[in-house]
Amino acid sequence: MDKVFDVIVVGAALNGLAAAVALGGNAVRRPLDVLVVDAKDPASFTSPAFDGRASAITAAARRMFEALDVWPALEPDAQPMTEIIVTDSRPNAARRPVLLAFGEDDMPHGPSAHMIENRQLYAAMLNAAQGSPHIEFATGTPVEQFDRGPGLARVRLADGRNFSASLVVAADGRNSPAREAAGISMVGWPYDQMGLVATVAHELPHGGRAEEHFMPSGPFAILPLPGNRSSLVWTETIAKGERKLALSDDEFLAEMSKRFGTHLGAISLASGRHGYPLALWVAREFTADRLALVGDAAHVLHPLAGLGFNLGLRDVAALADSVHDAVALGLDPGGAPVLDRYSSWRRFDTVVTAAAMDGMNRLFSNSNPLLALLRDAGLMAVNRIAPLKRGFVGEAAGQGGLLPRLLRGERN
Ligand SMILES: Cc1cc2nc3c(=O)[nH]c(=O)nc-3n(C[C@H](O)[C@H](O)[C@H](O)COP(=O)(O)OP(=O)(O)OC[C@H]3O[C@@H](n4cnc5c(N)ncnc54)[C@H](O)[C@@H]3O)c2cc1C
Repeated sequence: MDKVFDVIVVGAALNGLAAAVALGGNAVRRPLDVLVVDAKDPASFTSPAFDGRASAITAAARRMFEALDVWPALEPDAQPMTEIIVTDSRPNAARRPVLLAFGEDDMPHGPSAHMIENRQLYAAMLNAAQGSPHIEFATGTPVEQFDRGPGLARVRLADGRNFSASLVVAADGRNSPAREAAGISMVGWPYDQMGLVATVAHELPHGGRAEEHFMPSGPFAILPLPGNRSSLVWTETIAKGERKLALSDDEFLAEMSKRFGTHLGAISLASGRHGYPLALWVAREFTADRLALVGDAAHVLHPLAGLGFNLGLRDVAALADSVHDAVALGLDPGGAPVLDRYSSWRRFDTVVTAAAMDGMNRLFSNSNPLLALLRDAGLMAVNRIAPLKRGFVGEAAGQGGLLPRLLRGERN
């Protein structure tokens, strides 16, 4: 006999753990019975060698973590971003005029985001999930078969175990086997760009300042972490990115220093280096019978605005509202009304955000002099108009659109 759950979450990375805690965690009034499955052991995600990335967590996402009781574990390792500057520059440039700057005056409701290392996000959410009596784990074995019957969905693990649930949440990443099994295709394209990621230690304090230097190959972002450390996201073409990853640490540091500048004093590498191929992909459908896609299974964006995981948290929060509202009325958590509500809530927002990120990447990641003139003039114009700047900060803080309860800091 299959063991039957309310929800099976496939994937125990950032979005899967968030979904498990939002549906069955201790901070939920009527928790559902949730099973989390993953091919890997999620404890391995908390090692710095596994991921190496850090995420900009928007103000709305922070409220969600507060509502889920996860924020107290994250706060000591969260670096508030109190200033953001944008330049349009070239490697080795002697001067980098700031075209757009956001400071504390533009953020009257507090920092628009906090930087947190992904390993700490995994650890805090994994602890919260493991601390709930309503969440079980079956990890270390991939799902090899998905069946979605009219009454229940079923997953079969490679070790032969079977589990059933009213709803399967696919948080199984950009190559989502659950999405493929449902026959849902993706719209989009790979970029000829790689995001090189490393943690950099520097002599001088960053003062909470995030820097986005748009260079012809793509953005070069220096994002503040606690202490005299910053997370670097350096965009290069795939071929150049691979060559940079193959350099020795000293050679890599020398190449990086040309772009990093000298304003933070002497710099050194404080982590290994990771390379992520960048792409834009959006699923044609976000749901199928008894299946909801969340996170990278539903959308993969260019990381230039650090929105990918935040968009995943929006999915999770919208799905949590849809599921908990249905259950409160005695309805099926995986029924068509739940899935229709979730899909109509999330698809439009996702497509608009993905198109905006794609447009920005095309506008900035090139050396066409006419486009350079246009974008510099545009950035300087925005910089002079305070209400417009506040609007940008509000969007970056994740305050725009119809927010689900968790993103407003309310519990389900
Ligand atoms: C360079 C870079 C910088 C970024 N910076 C930011 C940022 O600042 N802010 C932000 O919000 N976002 C950022 N992002 C985006 C963010 O990191 C991703 O959106 C997020 O990590 C996706 O998480 P996920 O849980 O959806 O998927 P994944 O992390 O891909 O996890 C999928 C999980 O599913 C499991 N799985 C897959 N197949 C199976 C199977 N058959 N059976 C069982 N388990 C399976 C895998 O083992 C894995 O654990 C960045 C991305 C990049 C590349």
